Amino acid sequence: MLTLGCSLHDILGTSYAENMKHAANAGFKSVFALWNDDMDTEAYMNNAAKCGLTVESFHAPFVNYSKIWEEDDEGDRATEIIKHCIRVAAEYKVPYVVSHVISTLDAPLTSNLGLCRFGKIVIEAEKYGVTLCFENTEYIRHLALVFSTFASPKFCYDVGHEHCFTPGIRTMGMFGERLGFLHLHDNLGMNKSYRASHDDDLHRIPFEGDIDWTKTLTEIKKSGFDGTLMLETDPGHDLGFYGSITAEEYYAKSFAGAKKLAELYETL
Ligand SMILES: [Zn+2]
Repeated sequence: MLTLGCSLHDILGTSYAENMKHAANAGFKSVFALWNDDMDTEAYMNNAAKCGLTVESFHAPFVNYSKIWEEDDEGDRATEIIKHCIRVAAEYKVPYVVSHVISTLDAPLTSNLGLCRFGKIVIEAEKYGVTLCFENTEYIRHLALVFSTFASPKFCYDVGHEHCFTPGIRTMGMFGERLGFLHLHDNLGMNKSYRASHDDDLHRIPFEGDIDWTKTLTEIKKSGFDGTLMLETDPGHDLGFYGSITAEEYYAKSFAGAKKLAELYETL
C-alpha cells in the first residue's frame, strides 16, 4: 500500500505537537508543514521524529504571488521568501517544497519578469537539491507557462483545487508526466454562479464531497506515481461541517478516508 500522509499544523484549537500525536496514532506515516519563517523548524522536526512521522514537504509561505508577476518590489521579497523556504528544507533534509505560482481570483497577466523570478526559485531548488513542486490553483495559464519554461520543477496535483476552481480541465492530462506530489482533499465543486470562489475550496476529507475518486486515482496511477497519498484537509476551511469534532476524532476520520483511497488505488 502507498504511504499515507496529511498536512500537519495546529487545528481545532490544539497545538501542532498534539496534532502530531493524533496523526501518528491514527496511522499516518508522513506529514507536511505549512512552513513560515516564524515557526520553530527545529522543534517541529524533532517533534515529528519523536512521533515516528516523516516530514515530507514544506508548503512555501502564502506570499502575494501576484506581485511576483508584476513590476513591484514586493515581488522580489516574495521570491526571496520562497528561496529561503527551500534553503531551510535542504538544511532539515525535507525532500519537497510545494509552492503556488498564483493565488488569487483576480490573476495578473503572465510576464517575463515573473518568469525570471520563478527562474531564481527554480535555480535555488536545483542548487540545494530540493524537489520543487508547483501546484494548480485558481488559474492554469501561469502554471503552464512556468512548466513550459523550466524543466526541473515537478507538478503537485491539487485534486480539490481542480474540482472547484477549474472544473472540466484535467490537469493530469497536461502535467501528469511530471507529477511529484499530491494534495488530496474533497469539495462540492464550483458554485452555481460558475465563478471561482474560495468558499468552494472546502478541503474536506476524501469521500465527503463529490469528487470522482475512481477517475482521479486512475489518472494518478496511470502516471506511475509511487509517492505518498498526501491529504491536504483542514476542518477550518469548512466551518460547521465537522461540528464539535475533536482533533483526535478528526485524524481518525482523515485516516479512514486516506485508507479508503489507498484501497481503491490498489484495485485500479
Ligand atoms: Zn494544495
